[in-house]
Amino acid sequence: MKWKIHVLYLGDILVSKGVSTFGLDTDLRINLPYLGYMLVSGSKKILVDTGINSRFIVDGRAWGGNPARGGERYLLDALEKNSARAEEIETVVYTHLHNDHAGNCHLFPESLHVFHYDEWNELLNPLPSMRIRGDFDPDVIPIIQRFSCLKVTGDCKLTEGLMLYHTPGHTIGGLTVSVDTSEGVYIIPGDIINIYQNLFPKVAEMVDLKGRRFKITPAPERYGPLGVPSAILYDHYAWYRSIWKIRGLLRSPKHLLPCHEPAICGKTFPGDSIELEIPE
Ligand SMILES: [Zn+2]
Repeated sequence: MKWKIHVLYLGDILVSKGVSTFGLDTDLRINLPYLGYMLVSGSKKILVDTGINSRFIVDGRAWGGNPARGGERYLLDALEKNSARAEEIETVVYTHLHNDHAGNCHLFPESLHVFHYDEWNELLNPLPSMRIRGDFDPDVIPIIQRFSCLKVTGDCKLTEGLMLYHTPGHTIGGLTVSVDTSEGVYIIPGDIINIYQNLFPKVAEMVDLKGRRFKITPAPERYGPLGVPSAILYDHYAWYRSIWKIRGLLRSPKHLLPCHEPAICGKTFPGDSIELEIPE
């Protein structure tokens, strides 16, 4: 069974690039999209991540007090733009349950909600550091509790052509989704990889949400060949192990669809191209 992937624009946040690539370009402010992914095969529609709830954007600011936009209207508009309605989504998969990925779960009361068992426990009992940062949106707990849920505990097949892999590091229960398409398997890694440079340290440019290119600093040798960690990791050991695992799943750089990468925002794969040099 082959799938198509529609990358949904669910809002954006203006942050220091150093949030996504620790120690690199800390004085550069970039607009990172909140992304979701609608996977379509025949009449089957599956959503990966739901974006941020507007309740979590106070006076135009979200996580870390940074200017942001988003909310359920963005998700409903993005679905409509791709000829879909919320009622048609049979399954919602969460790469993780951070506020900007689980915020609009309430729009899918009839769907099956799939996430990692450890992620649920983390949402119920966040560490003080996670509370200070406001990583989770506790208001989603009673909502998800009412829904039919599948809490997975390891690598598993979700359905024909879709695999889930446990990739902790950014959070305890992070999931990576692999999607089989007519042009090979695409990888949706969640926030364990925010942007291409997290996996490909030598990347020297990005595009903004209007498609304009700008220069970024390639990672110096001391970062090593595996990748550039973001500033938001709960476990660096887990992160490097998961990065190694994702490398083993990945067929080419452009088969990777990072969860805050402007270069893929609004595109459909296979089909659209990614206008960015990604040196391996
Ligand atoms: Zn996150």
